[in-house]
Amino acid sequence: MVSQHRPEDFESPPGVEQRRRRHRVRFELLGCAWNGHRLVGTDAAQISEDDALVARPAGSATRWHRCLRCDAWSLLPLPDAPTRDRPPGRDEIVLPARGEPLKSRYVLRLIALTRAFNVLVLLLVLGGAVAVLINQTSLRDDLFANADALQAVLGGQLVGEVESVLSGGAGPLWLIAIGIFALLAVETAEGVGLWRATRWGEYLTFVMTTLLLVPEVLQLTSSMSPGTIIGMVVNIAVVVYLLVSKRLFGLRGGAPAVKAERDHDISWDALARHLPDSPVRV
Ligand SMILES: [Zn+2]
Repeated sequence: MVSQHRPEDFESPPGVEQRRRRHRVRFELLGCAWNGHRLVGTDAAQISEDDALVARPAGSATRWHRCLRCDAWSLLPLPDAPTRDRPPGRDEIVLPARGEPLKSRYVLRLIALTRAFNVLVLLLVLGGAVAVLINQTSLRDDLFANADALQAVLGGQLVGEVESVLSGGAGPLWLIAIGIFALLAVETAEGVGLWRATRWGEYLTFVMTTLLLVPEVLQLTSSMSPGTIIGMVVNIAVVVYLLVSKRLFGLRGGAPAVKAERDHDISWDALARHLPDSPVRV
């Protein structure tokens, strides 16, 4: 398509008049603040109208380059030593996440961070359980030797329960340690799966979080501590978010709808859509 633009049209960044939805841009700017703008063709000797979605001329010594993530135009000097003749073709460029898929990635990574916190706590608990297993005999002897003082501080019921655990065989303690290790493995898998925005990570997190809601609800009937309530509300929010927004189990169109949403926001069509004055029609 022949450009209808004159050279003077490019004195200001192309597309600057465009109004963008603020919530969409905010996530893209976060990505660019962290990773830098995604520019292409900065090392190319020349550009043409075919590259107008990603680069445009701006005088004899500079060139506009469009960020493929946040749409911002950067005015850069022409390369002193170009490494290629033309910018890479569209089939060579991997478009960065943007739009709803990018927003979703941030939410998933936020949930992944909660799993990372859980992993740290479980590691400490597992370390404590293993330490008790290794030192069971000496701990039991110390407990018996200081039982009266400990009962005065911790209460008779707690000290009695600890005594019965330490006095029994190592079997129950091993079962506890194995259970903690299994939970640790699952939480780690959830975190990795969510951080990488995988479908299996979303399903695993949904199933495990839903299962853990059962003891939380039961605990709520006997204890109404703020921590219990906050934890349950967060977990319910995670379950609802994954079910509705990530369209699990075929809800709201399921995986095909997720793919359609991704194709809608991460594509050359999307880049053209968000640059209405583009001289190139795609
Ligand atoms: Zn950018």
